Amino acid sequence: MKVSNCSHRPIIVPCSLKNFDYQVDPYIGCEHYCYYCYVLQNAETDWSKEIQAHEDMAAQLGQELEKISPQKIYMGYYTDPYQPSEAECRQTRIALEVMLERGFSASILTKSDLVCRDIDILKEMKDASVSVSVAFNENSTRRLFEANTIDTEKRTNALWKLQDAGIKTSALICPVIPFVTDVMPLIDSLMPLTETIWIYGLSIEQTSGPNWRNVVGILKEHYPHSHDKIKQAVLAKDHPYWKDLREKLLHLQDKRGLHLSIHL
Ligand code: SF4
Repeated sequence: MKVSNCSHRPIIVPCSLKNFDYQVDPYIGCEHYCYYCYVLQNAETDWSKEIQAHEDMAAQLGQELEKISPQKIYMGYYTDPYQPSEAECRQTRIALEVMLERGFSASILTKSDLVCRDIDILKEMKDASVSVSVAFNENSTRRLFEANTIDTEKRTNALWKLQDAGIKTSALICPVIPFVTDVMPLIDSLMPLTETIWIYGLSIEQTSGPNWRNVVGILKEHYPHSHDKIKQAVLAKDHPYWKDLREKLLHLQDKRGLHLSIHL
């Protein structure tokens, strides 16, 4: 994987998520290369070959943090902070070190267990939190939709380690692909590891975008008998699939006293 330098681009940018004013994405591009990724339509490089990293993370981020008051910053909105190159490049670790020195904290979203490497820093931060995202029970299915991620079991093990270290955790089941993602067994495996499970359906903003073209190609090849049914449900939020799933989840929530945040 080529990691090229990117200069003259702000590292801290405004964040549209509730409870966060700012986000930091340590990389530009994501070699996890999930074929359904909503960021693909804005990709600046071919993520199977090249991503970009800020040229001098420590110095630039330090300068940018001086302009805002200490607070919790979101990491993982446009790119995974723990994609494979992070093991060597350590952009995310450097960013966390700089943030910690200046009294900032982080809320991280990732699909990787590499986040456990930085537990030492996260423990020092005030109220740091980590969300781990999963979407598939079977690794053979995961590989169809996420070219370069680690398996679900490794991600749940990461949640164990984080929880054991006293870090606040949550889990995302995202994206739910109708008739493909088996949501209930995922909830069973995640339930002991986190207080909150967020559940999001596959969201396609433009059917002309690369992520939908990718998904349609995978469905046609690997789900020849059900691809039409799956496509219809993805594109129609009033499809009975979503109503049935919402009802099942609400029932489960009441029965087991879970905290599910349902976005279907
Ligand atoms: S890990 Fe997230 S940002 Fe990276 S490709 Fe997958 S969905 Fe996109």
